[in-house]
Amino acid sequence: MTDESAGQDIRLYGLSKYYGDFRALDDVNLHVAAGEFLTLLGPSGSGKSTLLMALAGFVEPTHGDIFVGGSSITALAPEKRDFGVVFQGYALFPHMTVAGNVGYPLKVRGLGKPEIAAKVRDALDLVQLGHLATRLPKQLSGGQQQRVALARALVFSPKMLLLDEPMGALDKKLRHDLQLELRQLHRRLGRTFVNVTHDQEEAMAMSDRIAIMRAGKIEQLGAPRALYDAPETRFVADFLGKSNFIEGKVTGIDAGIATLDTADGPVVHALGTRPAGIGDSLLLALRPQKLMLGPGPNSRKATVETAIFLGTHAEVSLRCASGLALALNLGIENAQALPAEGTTVELGWDPAATVAVRPD
Ligand code: ADP
Ligand code: MG
Repeated sequence: MTDESAGQDIRLYGLSKYYGDFRALDDVNLHVAAGEFLTLLGPSGSGKSTLLMALAGFVEPTHGDIFVGGSSITALAPEKRDFGVVFQGYALFPHMTVAGNVGYPLKVRGLGKPEIAAKVRDALDLVQLGHLATRLPKQLSGGQQQRVALARALVFSPKMLLLDEPMGALDKKLRHDLQLELRQLHRRLGRTFVNVTHDQEEAMAMSDRIAIMRAGKIEQLGAPRALYDAPETRFVADFLGKSNFIEGKVTGIDAGIATLDTADGPVVHALGTRPAGIGDSLLLALRPQKLMLGPGPNSRKATVETAIFLGTHAEVSLRCASGLALALNLGIENAQALPAEGTTVELGWDPAATVAVRPD
């Protein structure tokens, strides 16, 4: 299965899908590199499944074109597209054994029995289920069933794998294990994977790049770290991890550091690569773990509303004098000494900790 050529690239040009007047996909342009693991991440209803179904050929786009490896596949029937698919609705056949399920796409393609048996064995080994080949789906755990679905999608060595919330029904621990397996599988196979999820941790854990979807459009596309550190909009800053938001007007700029007038007094903010001028209104995003207790830059006082110890870290909810709520995370090294609820604390943050984002 690994001996054949690697994945192919996918290009979407102006892809739209209307249901009546409703635009489920709105002029999407996207390039997925050959061999890339790309995740479409967004809230329910943002168009992720519609985009994946259009790729697979189960949804006909209203406008736009899809190219794979340089050729248009827009008019090609699904079975001619060479995508392996793991969709939620694509359940295993309950009356067929694991081997029967995995071999099914090969049977449909008219392969001979010995060839099917050999490929099924390879595919099951790939997902570490070789020992369960004769079982029925109902005799498997949820995670094992998902792995069978994965083996079935990979058995005919597709150049691309499409996954729609493949771990949707699994509990947290199992999801985590399968995420790591899928990531390793991708690295080993070198195929192009397009994955859909609404779970930001899953997207961060597995993907080379993430496309954040909102209302049928890609709002921002980038490597997980780049998206997390440099969100362009309020939506992205809040969807990929949590953020605090502070509004202010620029009153001065000195050596790349802007001073803003905010409801809780002045704030200093490093502009970085995002220019601003005096008089501009800015919306600053600030990660909860970038807030620090004690005096420092951007010092201010706040009341502790709740302080919760969560094992690996602690979450503290604070209220500033203006009424602004701030979430603060303390790492494990500071989480033991939590401030008491109801007390007033001093807090601050580095001027480089804030990122100016576009409001919605
Ligand atoms: P996601 O996978 O991000 O949750 P979908 O792509 O399934 O979102 O759906 C995007 C939007 O398109 C939703 O508002 C959904 O209700 C709508 N939609 C999807 N399929 C159809 C359909 N067959 N007819 C009408 N509306 C649809
Ligand atoms: Mg969906």
